[in-house]
Amino acid sequence: MLAPASMAPDLGDNGGSFASPDMALLPILVYPDPRLHTVAQPVAQVDDALRRLVADMLETMYDAGGIGLAATQVDHHLRLVVIDVSEDRDQPMTLINPEIVWASESKKLNEEGCLSVPGIYDGVERSTAVKVRAQDDQGQERVIEADGLLAVCIQHEMDHLKGKVFVEYLSLLKRTRIQTKLAKARREALRT
Ligand SMILES: [Zn+2]
Repeated sequence: MLAPASMAPDLGDNGGSFASPDMALLPILVYPDPRLHTVAQPVAQVDDALRRLVADMLETMYDAGGIGLAATQVDHHLRLVVIDVSEDRDQPMTLINPEIVWASESKKLNEEGCLSVPGIYDGVERSTAVKVRAQDDQGQERVIEADGLLAVCIQHEMDHLKGKVFVEYLSLLKRTRIQTKLAKARREALRT
C-alpha cells in the first residue's frame, strides 16, 4: 500500500538504508494484471527461502516508497505480507498466514494508494481497528492489535491475498477511468 500524502510517513527520497547487497528488487505487478487476482496459498514452512523472499519484499517496498506489500504483488502467491508504517522506516513487520480474528464494527473512509495501481488514490471504507493472528519470520504465532494507518494497511494487504485490489471497491466508472489512465501511462513509458 501507498499512503496518501496526508497520512504518509516522511519517506525522504529513498528508504533504502535497509538494503544490503544480498537482496534483490522484485518486479511489482501492475493493475489490471490478471495475476493480481490469484488467491494466495498458505505458507507451509517458515524457512530460509521464505525469509529471503521477505527480505526481498521489504527492500522492494522501501525502494518503491510503500508502507505495505503483499506477496501477490510480486507474483508469489503465498499468504505473506510485509508492512512498515513507521515514520523512520525502521519497523518492518512480517505477517505470515495472517487471519483477521476481530474487526471493529466502526468503519472509516480512508484515502488509499497501491504500489500496483501507480498514481491513483481513492477512498475505501475499512474497519478502524482489527486483531490479526499471524506468524512472524521466525514462525512464531502472535496476535497484533492494530488501529489507524496500520489497521488500514493490514486490511488492504490482506485483500491482495484474496486476489482483490482496492480499486475494485470503486464504481465501474471510476475503475474504467483508472484502467484508461494506466494504459495511457504504459504507452507513454514505452515511447520514451
Ligand atoms: Zn496494494
